[in-house]
Amino acid sequence: MITIQDLNHTFKIGKKGQEKSVPVLKDVNLEINKGEVVAILGKSGSGKSTLLNLIAGFMTPESGSIQVTGEELVGKTEAEKAKFRLQNYGFIFQSFQLMPGLTAFENIELPLKLQGVAKQQRLIRVKELLQQVGLTEVSDHYPNELSGGQQQRVSIARALIGRPSILLADEPTGSLDSETEQEILQLIQLLNAHYGITFVIITHDEEVARSAHRQYRMHDGAIQEELTYVS
Ligand code: ADP
Ligand code: MG
Repeated sequence: MITIQDLNHTFKIGKKGQEKSVPVLKDVNLEINKGEVVAILGKSGSGKSTLLNLIAGFMTPESGSIQVTGEELVGKTEAEKAKFRLQNYGFIFQSFQLMPGLTAFENIELPLKLQGVAKQQRLIRVKELLQQVGLTEVSDHYPNELSGGQQQRVSIARALIGRPSILLADEPTGSLDSETEQEILQLIQLLNAHYGITFVIITHDEEVARSAHRQYRMHDGAIQEELTYVS
């Protein structure tokens, strides 16, 4: 589903004329199959978010190939990448990224509204999603009236609205306590099992990584699959 080959990325930092090159991804190779939950584990600064941003098409790599659902993303125009994202990806962030002035219902509904979907259809779809993430009871609450776990559920529901086949999650439980973290990991597993959604989860937390089907470990921009041996 996602095949990454020989991916390299270097950031240029500093003043014009005296830039310094900072290599951040080094010959990254990675394969994620349809229906898998894969964790990319690594310390802060190891290059995880950069890798996710490249998979998302938010940035262009220095070299290498990123194939997703059979399409090569490297070389696509910004407009093509935006269209690809709408059709294939949902995003989950550590900081939830909810609109404070909108209720849970309205936050989930927003992408459909922006796409011009009719009110009756929006109502049906949002209700369905609220139920899937277990938030029907609090649909009229504003983000500041919800717990961290509930806010993350709203953002997961919103990520699902376009029926994406892949969810990209950057530290999805990074701002949650360990009990709430478990709830969110269970929700991810349920969505994966019921709808076959592929998850790419970036994390620095070994516990989160263990909940995935497979793990890769990033270290200073290099990646390696973490093989677990059963003795
Ligand atoms: P992680 O998500 O694993 O913490 P990142 O991918 O965010 O790591 O960052 C990897 C490295 O790249 C860090 O050293 C960071 O300082 C550097 N970096 C990230 N984004 C930029 C940028 N836009 N410009 C320059 N350096 C960056
Ligand atoms: Mg990061």
